[in-house]
Amino acid sequence: MQGLMQDWPLLCHRIIDHAAIQHGARPVISRSVEGPIHTTDYATIRKRALQVAQRLEKDGIRQGDRVATLAWNTWRHLESWYGIMGLGAIYHTINPRLFQDQIVWIANHAEDRLMLADLTFVPLLERIADKLPSIERYVILTDAAHMPATTLRNAVPYESWIAEADGDFAWRSFDENTAAGMCYTSGTTGNPKGVVYSHRSNVLHSMIAALPDSMGVASRDVIMPVVPMFHANCWGLALTSPMVGAALVMPGPKLDGASVYELLNDYRVSFTAAVPTVWLMLLQHLEASNLKLPYLKRVVIGGSACPRAMTQKFQDVYGVEVIHAWGMTEMSPLGSLCSLKPEYADLSGEARLDIQNKQGHPPFGVEMKITDDSGRELPWDGKTFGRLKVRGPSVTRAYFKEDGPGILDEQGFFDTGDVATMDPYGYMQITDRSKDVIKSGGEWISSIELENLAVGHPKVAEAAVIGVPHPKWDERPLLVIVLKKGETAAKDEILGFMQDKIAKWWMPDDVVFVEEIPHTATGKILKTALRDRFKDHVLPTAEAAE
Ligand code: AMP
Repeated sequence: MQGLMQDWPLLCHRIIDHAAIQHGARPVISRSVEGPIHTTDYATIRKRALQVAQRLEKDGIRQGDRVATLAWNTWRHLESWYGIMGLGAIYHTINPRLFQDQIVWIANHAEDRLMLADLTFVPLLERIADKLPSIERYVILTDAAHMPATTLRNAVPYESWIAEADGDFAWRSFDENTAAGMCYTSGTTGNPKGVVYSHRSNVLHSMIAALPDSMGVASRDVIMPVVPMFHANCWGLALTSPMVGAALVMPGPKLDGASVYELLNDYRVSFTAAVPTVWLMLLQHLEASNLKLPYLKRVVIGGSACPRAMTQKFQDVYGVEVIHAWGMTEMSPLGSLCSLKPEYADLSGEARLDIQNKQGHPPFGVEMKITDDSGRELPWDGKTFGRLKVRGPSVTRAYFKEDGPGILDEQGFFDTGDVATMDPYGYMQITDRSKDVIKSGGEWISSIELENLAVGHPKVAEAAVIGVPHPKWDERPLLVIVLKKGETAAKDEILGFMQDKIAKWWMPDDVVFVEEIPHTATGKILKTALRDRFKDHVLPTAEAAE
């Protein structure tokens, strides 16, 4: 027997419809690429998204076509997403921080037909446009007054372009499993892989993200997604915020500490999210200028491990609750968030920080297991670590145009490439990427745990740990450190700080001080480049062993 409920496909444009009807006047404030602050609301965003859909159709874009965006977080980018999806086309966010050749590869692989790009990226696009044959038109996200002279094919300013549509358009209707969006992984090896979100997965993910133990956002919130829309589906916030009717503050191109602070303060942001690097810049700015965060209540930190010292500072000095989160492009991207279940809610001080150091527990809609290399499940004792595998309605089942062997195991789980522990209450803690874990004498050492410890030293700005070859142990950890501005430190000072906080055999064999640690386009430490740079580094313990 079938249920007798209505068939109401989970389509993304229903989200902006709901926002316009129920929260139509809620402000959407952006730092525009042109400079000034711009204010609009959900009702207007919906109206202009309809114009985008209608105008795209006029340009020949049809259901299933890929429309690229190369843009910061602004109201125009948001309208574009909804307009593209409402036509049944697919928004394809491209990360401008990728190498040019990668951008070319990705746009060609996706066969993007049209590109919406910010002014910032016109020079970059002019350099590569002759290698992008599939793109028939470039729409520059600006008005006629700011439109530069450009050689880009059929280039037109966005405002003039949508002005050619009156918005008298009905969203297209289709199956909820239709593709809605696309984002390529920023893999550090091999070619990037295309992850394709569906309308259904996006809508379900937005509901999962809003749950009280996830991001727990509501219409009373003012949300600032500092995480760019081109990074892992904006962590769901471009959909979750209108779904719950929260006001939005979009930071545009300026993500430095002073600019982020200005928006947090001026627009009374209550909830924000980004990678640790962004928060490092903000905290430095707050300290240097002796500022406070009176309005901010919660900050989601993920994308790479949130250092304990950062959680502590946000909470103890600024009174802002930290929600440590883990996820990946392939998971839309949320996988776990570290809210406190009743079992841990009464903890305080260091014991509470110990739990917040974990990446958290999966919400409904994400199932997890850890296994050994042969696929055997490992216990949830908080100590045993193994390959982290996940499944759920907003987890990828295949990559775009990849027909090779499937990427799921027999039970439908996807191997995340991360290594993790699970504790008895279901909290997951990442110990490493499977390719970054240091294999010393057949045992595994977590590079992330060592990094977290090292950045707790008051003189350390950033730390990375890599395995370097060792004649006796195969690999031993090398600690690479960037000191805070104006600081000096000796190797023994750092190692002394780490002593007694980790097992003796985890202690890095050497420390090197560098000016800068290389990062990937999504702000993660680029371990491949570090491994390359230090591949001939001779550890003092290696000399002794020979
Ligand atoms: P991306 O698809 O670019 O978001 O990258 C996903 C990867 O980032 C994950 O597989 C993890 O290796 C890493 N990652 C994301 N969040 C965290 C976190 N909170 N702690 C440690 N690693 C993380």
